[in-house]
Amino acid sequence: MRFDRRGVALLATLSVLACAPTDGRPAHADDPPAVADYRPGAAGIGDPDFPEDGNGGYDVSHYDLAVAYTPKTKQLEGRTTIQAAATQNLSSFNLDLAGYDVRQVTVDNAAARFRREGDELTVTPSRPLGNRSRFTVKVVYGGRPRAAQDAANLGTYGFIPTADGAFVASEPNGSKTWFPNNDHPADKATFNFTITVPAGLTAVSNGELQGRPTTTGGKTTYRWRERHPMATYLATATLGKFDLRQGRTPGGIPEFAAVDPRFKSSLDKLYQISGEVTDYWSTVFGPYPFSSTGGVIDDYMAGYALENQTKPLYGGFEPDATIIAHELAHQWFGDSLTIKRWKDLWLNEGFATYAEWLWQEHKGTKTAEAIFKGLHARPADDPMWAYPPGRAKPSDLFNTSVYTRGAMTLQALRDAIGDDTFFRLLRTWTAEHRYGHVTTEEFIGLAGRLSGKDLRPLFDAWLFQPRRPA
Ligand SMILES: [Zn+2]
Repeated sequence: MRFDRRGVALLATLSVLACAPTDGRPAHADDPPAVADYRPGAAGIGDPDFPEDGNGGYDVSHYDLAVAYTPKTKQLEGRTTIQAAATQNLSSFNLDLAGYDVRQVTVDNAAARFRREGDELTVTPSRPLGNRSRFTVKVVYGGRPRAAQDAANLGTYGFIPTADGAFVASEPNGSKTWFPNNDHPADKATFNFTITVPAGLTAVSNGELQGRPTTTGGKTTYRWRERHPMATYLATATLGKFDLRQGRTPGGIPEFAAVDPRFKSSLDKLYQISGEVTDYWSTVFGPYPFSSTGGVIDDYMAGYALENQTKPLYGGFEPDATIIAHELAHQWFGDSLTIKRWKDLWLNEGFATYAEWLWQEHKGTKTAEAIFKGLHARPADDPMWAYPPGRAKPSDLFNTSVYTRGAMTLQALRDAIGDDTFFRLLRTWTAEHRYGHVTTEEFIGLAGRLSGKDLRPLFDAWLFQPRRPA
């Protein structure tokens, strides 16, 4: 994510949603003894900073989403099919879903009992699920989407209705505003999307279009497929009036760009720069991890851009090359390599911000070293020095320190280990954890191994101390 307006960045705080826990039901004497070993899955995936996000007891491998949306009535009708595997003996499990009427839930095609509490949907299958068993959940639901808002009511994310459709950007936990899921980056899955909109509108999602859209009865259906694992917050179904350009980057990667008609004059620039950046990062960070690249500009004034997998989304502004460089760097750092816990967000934002500096260095406008020096000269009482970026705070997740001081950490590292080792480190990092999960400890460990140096004091000063490093 990158904020387009300084003010929005400073005000973007998040709060932990306060919901009553729905698990922990005490075992009653009258429970059938045969299922005594079966317990409800936890209502959270185990991220202490976001205790209600995601769920425990299972792991999703695939989402098949069918969504029909009518902008005029703001009505969404959805059917989500989830393929998952139990990671414990499960008597019940939770999905995350905000709003909507849930009409039907089945598990392995048998009707399942369900109840709602806050943003938790608890599903009790007709027969308990054994550890490691694979199962399929189907949820039919509908209603008016309600975007997510932070506590201060200043940031809006999730499924956001617009005049002609919807703007869909869900970091960190807004995908539950449009489909039931395990809403935490620790559980990635592949996705199929079937999105139906009034004829004349376009639905843009992750991955690649599967065949041409089909129109019947005044409705057009778009089918998209993301065949690489994806965090739920990167899923999108941005829809409305769009001008499109498709083709390949000069390096041969399939590319898809879409702009709201208000940004018609930005389409070619978005397409050209996105292609050039994708090709360039492929030489710096390692092979491009996905099957296509691109970008979308919608006319919703979000004040931010989000690195939706394969197609970053720009909210209400024409991005310049450095913002495009940031969002496309996230395809490696954040999308292919995904954090397990939100506290490690600098592994996304510090790296993507450093990519902005590398882009300027590539273009000959400024070196990363010069940008670093300018920032390091900030006075000792600059708020950035009080916020250690290696431990992002849930109440202030997108603090500028996570971005800027995170990027400075990488420049300090580059100075310490030299260009050859530094860029080999970035490529080894993206190769070893491709499509997987990462932690700050793993990055520090790899940097130490590749350089043969004791880098712990450097990382400690830059990532974990509430003061300006020397
Ligand atoms: Zn970002």
